[in-house]
Order: sequence, then C-alpha cells, then structure tokens
Amino acid sequence: MAETLDTDIVIIGGGIAGLWLNYRLRSAGYSTVLLERQTLGGGQTVRSQGIIHGGTKYALHGALSNASNAISEMPARWRACLNGEGDVDLSSAKVLSEYHYMWSRDRLMSKLTSFFASKAVRGKVETDEFEQRPEAFKNPAFHGNFYALNEIVVDVPSVINALISPFDEGIYQYDCAQHSSLELDNGSVTDLQLFGKNKRVRIKAKRYILTAGEGNESVLHSAQLHGPAMQRRPLHMVVVKHHYPHPIYAHCIGSGSKPLLTITTHYMADGQPVWYLGGNLAETGVELDKQTQLESAKTLIKELLPWVDLGEAHWDSFMIHRAEPQQNAMLRPDSAFVHQNDNVITCWPTKLALTPNLVDEVLEKLEQDNITPELATNYELLKFLSRPPISKPVWQELLS
Ligand SMILES: Cc1cc2nc3c(=O)[nH]c(=O)nc-3n(C[C@H](O)[C@H](O)[C@H](O)COP(=O)(O)OP(=O)(O)OC[C@H]3O[C@@H](n4cnc5c(N)ncnc54)[C@H](O)[C@@H]3O)c2cc1C
Repeated sequence: MAETLDTDIVIIGGGIAGLWLNYRLRSAGYSTVLLERQTLGGGQTVRSQGIIHGGTKYALHGALSNASNAISEMPARWRACLNGEGDVDLSSAKVLSEYHYMWSRDRLMSKLTSFFASKAVRGKVETDEFEQRPEAFKNPAFHGNFYALNEIVVDVPSVINALISPFDEGIYQYDCAQHSSLELDNGSVTDLQLFGKNKRVRIKAKRYILTAGEGNESVLHSAQLHGPAMQRRPLHMVVVKHHYPHPIYAHCIGSGSKPLLTITTHYMADGQPVWYLGGNLAETGVELDKQTQLESAKTLIKELLPWVDLGEAHWDSFMIHRAEPQQNAMLRPDSAFVHQNDNVITCWPTKLALTPNLVDEVLEKLEQDNITPELATNYELLKFLSRPPISKPVWQELLS
C-alpha cells in the first residue's frame, strides 16, 4: 500500500535550473520536493565554464540579435545576487573574474575593431587600457586587440553550494525516468510514484517541473508524455593543469562569428591552476579522438598565446552534450525555454547565465494559473531516500 505525500511543486533535476527554482519557490513559501538522479549541480552545470554572458559573443555577426537582447540583463541580475541583493543570495559564492575578456591575434582584425566601435555594444565593452589588462596580456609579444566585456565568471561549485544550503530539506536522490514514475490520467499527471525497498510513496503536487537537462527527454518518454523536442549539441572540452601563474578568462576571436577558443581558469583543491578550454576548439573537436583533440589544443595554445609557457602540464579531455529545445538546423536557441503542457512544465535554461530569466518565466506561469503556496509537506515520509551528493568539478575528477 502506497503512502501519499502532498506538496505544492515537484522539481525533477538538480542542476542550476532545478536548484535556482527550488530556492525561489521555497523563499516564496511554496513546499517543494526536488528529485535528482545522480549529483547536485551534475550534468552540464558543473561542467560549464561559469561565464555569465551579456550577449557580446553572440552579437559578433555585427548586430544585436534576439539572443543578445534576452541575455543582456543577466550580468546585472547575477551581480545583484552575488552581492546578496538579488532574489537569491549568492553572497557566499566566489567570483573568479569580474570581467570576461576578448582578444584578437593581430590588430588588423577589422571585424573586431568595427564591431566594438559600433553603437550596438557601446557601454557593454571597455576600451583597451594597457594598465588594466590581466598580466597574461601585458607581454610585449602580444600584438592583438584586447577588450573587457561586461561579463563575470563565477565559480560554479560555490554557486551550487549557495543555492542548496538554505533549503536542503526536501532534496532527494531518485531517478524519475525509472519505473514510469509519473502516473497519468487523461494527459494530466496525477502523481509521482517513488519506490524504495518495501516502500512506495505517491507524491501529489500541483505542478511537476522538469529541469533534468538532457534527462528531460527520458523523463517525458518514460511517462509517455508529449513534451517539447530536444536537441543535443556535442562538445569536446579540454582541461589542462599547469604552472603558468596568470589566470585567463577570455575568448579569442578570429575572422568568423564564433570564438576560436574560450579559456577560463579554475583551481584544483591544492590551488594549482587549471585552464578549461572551449569555444570552436570544443565544437569542431567532436569528430576527433582524445589524443588528436589534445594535440589540436596544444597547437592552438602555441599559435594564439605564443609567449605562454605552461611548463609541465597534465592534459585531458571529455565529451558532453548541451541539451536545448529543438531548433531548425541545430541553431542555438535565443533565450531560456519554458513549455507548459497541462500540469507539467519542461525547462531548459540553454545557458547558465539565463537561469534567473528561466525561473522568472516559471513563476509567471504559476501566477497565471493561480498556483499559490498552500501545502505543508511531511518530509518524514521520504526518509527512506538518500540525499544526492554535490558534484565534483570535472578537473578534480580528471586531473587528480
Ligand atoms: C561544456 C559546457 C560549458 C558551458 N559553459 C557555459 C558558460 O560558460 N556560461 C553559460 O551561461 N552556460 C554555459 N553552458 C550551458 C549551461 O551549463 C547549461 O545551460 C546549464 O547548466 C543547464 O542547466 P540544467 O539545470 O538545465 O541542466 P543540468 O546541469 O544538465 O542538470 C540536470 C540535472 O538533472 C538530473 N537528471 C537527469 N535525468 C534525471 C532523472 N531521470 N531523474 C532525476 N534527475 C535527473 C541530472 O543528473 C542533472 O543533475 C555550458 C554547457 C556546457 C556543456
């Protein structure tokens, strides 16, 4: 015989979207149950580069697109949260860099120069003051253009911790794509069934919100729910642990519309620096095996940063998908995505940076449907489930 537990909202998936949403809902007085299959912040979130884009990268085509409009408010939203003045308190989280930068290899890159001179980005970019450049770009061998973007880089593991710590009650480890967890009646979800050893609990909620990243697809399929189609964009990311002392947070721009290389700097538990390499290197590297991808990365670093000596370095790489709503011709989606079908809401932030925007949209949908905080949840009934651990940074897993 199953026991029944009532809660206002069930959230499936504990990446940035699920955790931020949980924080906002609990702060507003809603009762929630968040179910995470593996580790909190897992999937894409802990493997992201932590850049809180303001859209400049996406505006390189020469004009601001929808993507850049939707995202342009995000650095200010995150800054307020990091200062403890926003709708979530991230004051305990770390900022890795107050700016993300952009450089070109040589000064004759007219595309970059005219782009930054254009009215469209005025105010979003600061000019190239030599004294204010990071140390790595003060080397006399650097002859390119250099710009500071109005974008921050956050330490994602510390953001995850800040989102979990005030509301860790109600977060459990469970794979919601197993055992057909979601029960349906006439296309509407009636409850979510959780199976333990000699135990079965039915959770009844007013809304079931899917924030499972790439896992949204299997949660929808396992329940035979008709949800939005998903696309996967594969990336072959590179990590390198080294002894070069100056951190870099920057895109290198070539003649195309996408960065040739994006570098962010992170730190092992013992303080040793790690560069995390993405951009076009990761997009084109999906066809390459690990060894060939590492050779490409080494060649690119020598070519783009010839004055940098990484010393004795430890290189590794891994493949990952970005999970997004389906677009025509695998285009990048423009903004956070929220889709409602009856009492199920499916979400993909599409970028870490857009999470505040995603959560606003979910809250608006709840308000429109008059879903208000109401039910007290007896978490005692879920004591048979364990709490999911917090994800380890990918460099810690690969390079320790
Ligand atoms: C390599 C890389 C670099 C990136 N860099 C940036 C960046 O610098 N800036 C930026 O703005 N964006 C970046 N992004 C995009 C950003 O990381 C994602 O848009 C964002 O993290 C997605 O968050 P999410 O919570 O939707 O998904 P995820 O982080 O993938 O979390 C989903 C969670 O759901 C859980 N789950 C899955 N299936 C189930 C199930 N059946 N039951 C229960 N739980 C389940 C997973 O275990 C996971 O923990 C990057 C992405 C990648 C891949």
